[in-house]
Amino acid sequence: AKHLRLILGDQLNPMHTWFEHIDADVVYVIAELHQEANYTKHHVQKISAFFAAMANFAQDLESKGHRVCYLTLDDSAAYQDLPQLIKALVARYACQSFTFQRPDEYRLRAQLAGMSAQLALPVVEVDSEHFLLPFDELPSHFKAATHVRMENFYRLMRKRFSILMTGLKPAGGAWNFDANNRQSFKQADLKLIPKPLVFDNSADEYLQRIKQHNINTIGHESANVAYPINRQQSLVLLDYFCQHQLANFGNFQDAMTVASPYAWSLYHSRLSFSLNCKMLSPMEVIETALIAYQDSAGKITLAQIEGFVRQILGWREYVRGMYWVNMPNYAEQNFLGAKRNLPAFFWNADTKMQCLKSAISQSLEHAYAHHIQRLMITGNFSLLAGIAPSQVDDWYLGIYIDAIEWVELPNTRSMALFADGGWIATKPYAASGNYVNKMSDYCKNCHYKVKEKVSSNACPLNSLYWNFIDQNYDKFASNHRMSFPIRNWDKVDPAQKIAIREKAAELLNDLDKL
Ligand code: FAD
Repeated sequence: AKHLRLILGDQLNPMHTWFEHIDADVVYVIAELHQEANYTKHHVQKISAFFAAMANFAQDLESKGHRVCYLTLDDSAAYQDLPQLIKALVARYACQSFTFQRPDEYRLRAQLAGMSAQLALPVVEVDSEHFLLPFDELPSHFKAATHVRMENFYRLMRKRFSILMTGLKPAGGAWNFDANNRQSFKQADLKLIPKPLVFDNSADEYLQRIKQHNINTIGHESANVAYPINRQQSLVLLDYFCQHQLANFGNFQDAMTVASPYAWSLYHSRLSFSLNCKMLSPMEVIETALIAYQDSAGKITLAQIEGFVRQILGWREYVRGMYWVNMPNYAEQNFLGAKRNLPAFFWNADTKMQCLKSAISQSLEHAYAHHIQRLMITGNFSLLAGIAPSQVDDWYLGIYIDAIEWVELPNTRSMALFADGGWIATKPYAASGNYVNKMSDYCKNCHYKVKEKVSSNACPLNSLYWNFIDQNYDKFASNHRMSFPIRNWDKVDPAQKIAIREKAAELLNDLDKL
């Protein structure tokens, strides 16, 4: 072979122009890497899913006639890191060039950019041909350390790609139908929650290797990879979503419950793994959902499809832009100076707080939690308790099936922790027990009392919330979007303020006890 081309584990895009022609002079390398399995402590199901999808992709390329070098952890163990492996392969195949698709992660991009100094041959970066907004255009939409309004970006994207537009106007006369969405479940809704589609791909081979190579993992082991491991399965999952979940996607986007066997998935698509590995393109997901909407004879309303389109055309592309213009500084942000340790129950769900127990235990079991659990349960708790952002980042980066830094970090640092001081959100997404009680049934059977603030079994979120406002008073005082809670705190009588501070201090002193 004359040319080496690298395919990373999240670059499994069979539609890439690379694969339009079969060329005997090109060898594709797909490798299970120790550096990737170990750069954070991943959920064991996440590693199995990545390895299974990579193996499937390699087989698919080979069956189409491409030349593939597939390396397992056994094969790659001898090399210290990715650059060492590439050097060895370049020599093995007597290559004249090395080409890679632009990594989505800063860490990997920096590592591969360094290759040109290490190899005496042309090193070329090409586009991954996945995202809707071209990489070179990111600086014209996003500025470092500067607030960019998602809603404005999203409207531009709607116009640019003519999605849900009637001429120059948004379909239905509004850009946003959130007011119709965001319901919580009533008793009658619970029985209608659809069963999630899970796959039955064997994980045996991967689990064996993970153990043999002592890869340190978290979460429950599973003999199956329940997520799609190839394009065909990804398309089946997309179709299932359009048929069974899209019609209620927006309605119950923020709802949470314990009262359903399918509480862990609800009306969410669980397409993030397929999207982030590039087995599906964002535009085909949007277009497929739009066709389902048009063909549904009114069963899927505009509010539901718009809510879904916004996540992919808006949020997903937006966080990618914010990530690239702000890295590497992003990973250092800690606006609120948070420095407490993540409590041990994040790793074993051993807590009496029902909301955290539910969100964490399902994350350990399925490597999945839906957005509002990530933002308003584990995220909100970490915000109120002042947990060090780097520890929170590590947890999110490891535990979720879809966790890749470009999308995990902006969501964690900015959305959940307000550690950027307002680049994404203009105020912290902070909430007391009242919010959790409104959006879920978690509080009903909780050990703690959601209506109480300072009693011995008062919901910890209540005193932690007011203490959070109090502790960050100066930082929030100039933020007009925080004037409501600030004014409310001002009105609390002095004795009650002292009681709240004391209660919060007692809780913060031993978070592991909660
Ligand atoms: P659905 O609810 O069905 O949404 C459809 C799709 O929209 C998702 O697959 C995703 O591609 C996109 N999307 C929705 N919300 C966002 C968002 N805020 N940012 C980017 N894309 C979005 N998403 C990841 O893909 N990887 C992560 O590591 C990740 N970490 C997160 C950490 C925190 C603290 C928070 C608050 C959110 C995080 N998200 C992450 C965003 C979001 O929660 C997940 O994309 C979503 O839960 C994935 O499940 P789903 O496919 O069922 O999503």
